Amino acid sequence: MDTPRLTVALTFDHDAFSDSVRRGDPPVKFSHGEFGPRVGAPRILELLRREAIPSTWFVPGHTLVTFPDSIEAVLAGGHELACHGWYHEDFSELPAEEQASILDHCVSAVREVSGVPPRGHRAPYWALGADTLRLVEAAGFTYDSSLMSDDYALFRVRHGDRHTVEDGTTFGQAGRLIQVPVYWGLDDWPQFEPGPGRDGMAPPSRVLELWTGELRYAHEHAPGGLLTVTMHPECIGRGHRMLMLEAFIAACRALPGVAFERLDSYVDRWQAAAEA
Ligand SMILES: [Zn+2]
Repeated sequence: MDTPRLTVALTFDHDAFSDSVRRGDPPVKFSHGEFGPRVGAPRILELLRREAIPSTWFVPGHTLVTFPDSIEAVLAGGHELACHGWYHEDFSELPAEEQASILDHCVSAVREVSGVPPRGHRAPYWALGADTLRLVEAAGFTYDSSLMSDDYALFRVRHGDRHTVEDGTTFGQAGRLIQVPVYWGLDDWPQFEPGPGRDGMAPPSRVLELWTGELRYAHEHAPGGLLTVTMHPECIGRGHRMLMLEAFIAACRALPGVAFERLDSYVDRWQAAAEA
């Protein structure tokens, strides 16, 4: 295919209630998570089917084994399965051995349901310990999608940066792992869901303005770039937000040369171009 002027990646973190199991949440929190596989994901998959849009799903191991029908539907739609912890762990709180064991467990689970090993990883909460991305690279992932130091351009992850008050900053060396950058403004959750320091429930028009602003800027100023949007089925799957997602897709379609692509496929094109 011709290289698109701009590629848009719709990505879905299919958390369901994986984090509630770990935290021992009350029933209403579980029900909020269950909305994802029960209502949100089928709506999203139907929209993606109608629009012929391939996408990437970051799925905790607990969701993989608890909602197999939902995962089957994701795979049947031609979407990519990638890893997102087992019980949606906060990797910054875990020792390296435990992080490595979760990563291995997740890789095996994705291989089991899809027949192929996952290429991608996204840290739950985008929370990383100092060693996490080195462990992600060692677990065989091609790319991670948890950092914010760029927006429309991929880059190789540096390992071993050191920051101390005494000596300032020493940058480490870039490894093999490729980074697909993310940002809160391009994530449905902090806009729409209540949380510490915010009441959430943004009007969809506000979020549409943020996302289409990024779209128009990237289309104008980042030729060949990638715009990555992060969504959660239990959040974007509510009716008024689905209308916003439809409007965002229409805004993408209205610009010349915009393509939708799975992250693994865009990452492969980026890597081939970088090595050419
Ligand atoms: Zn998540």
